[in-house]
Amino acid sequence: EKIIFNGEIIERSKVNIDIEDRGYQFGDGIYEVIRVYNGTLFTKEEHVNRLYESAEKISIHIPYEKLELIQTLEELVQVNQLKTGIIYLQLTRGSFPRQHGFPKSEVPPVYVAYTREMPIPKVSMDDGVKGLLVEDVRWLRCDIKSLNLLGNILAKQKAAESGCFEAIQHRGEEITEGSSSNVFIVKDHCLITRPATNLILNGITRQVIIKLCQENGISIREEIFTINDLLEADEVFISSTTSEVMPIIQVNDKVISSGTPGEITRKLQHLFQQKIGL
Ligand code: PMP
Repeated sequence: EKIIFNGEIIERSKVNIDIEDRGYQFGDGIYEVIRVYNGTLFTKEEHVNRLYESAEKISIHIPYEKLELIQTLEELVQVNQLKTGIIYLQLTRGSFPRQHGFPKSEVPPVYVAYTREMPIPKVSMDDGVKGLLVEDVRWLRCDIKSLNLLGNILAKQKAAESGCFEAIQHRGEEITEGSSSNVFIVKDHCLITRPATNLILNGITRQVIIKLCQENGISIREEIFTINDLLEADEVFISSTTSEVMPIIQVNDKVISSGTPGEITRKLQHLFQQKIGL
């Protein structure tokens, strides 16, 4: 199996990561996950742009042109003959004798990317899944797609231990986002999702959905909503690269509306399918 290591496509077994890599020691780096449908990268520019934005926000300089990076990712998908799955890519601040402050001298970032087969979660998308409310205890720069995911991991694990697909995080009364997804509710035929501030990651899937709404006459508002709004919503769904438009039919013990995926959720699933051209 081939992977990308510092811009070159090589055998996975040939990779050598130093024990003092700052990604390994501090989670000092950034990442992206890009969906591959039918051997093509979905919304690749958007993901790569976000990668460069995250890098900029933590002062990591990416020593590749965007186009060059995309071309190598596409080459990797071809070489590995990936049809349906994902590409994972990450860059760390590189390797340096351990100290909290940035390396003083020029240290190149360490860049890794690999592919993985991953089916579209059809059954869950048809039937809907459960969510668990979890207090959002993460830091205040959730807009950065950073390798530091402890808060997200602990939230997801809590949800999994309750038999739930996703943790729906909240800061006090306000819903923020899932542990690895954005949250949408429908009330009186209007879609509502939280504005993309420093408290959430501005999901690429979220942005695709907002655009689909605007193009198809579905009303949408970017507005803060509360736990109560969520529990009393007509429909709830989450969005992410791997889960697309995923209906939430129950939150904690509260069944959402009739307990089946709602009309607007279904409509958006359909529009999303059209968009990816499957
Ligand atoms: N929020 C968080 C915290 C995430 O980890 C993710 C998925 N990486 C998302 C939202 C959804 O983002 P996207 O649609 O770009 O996958």
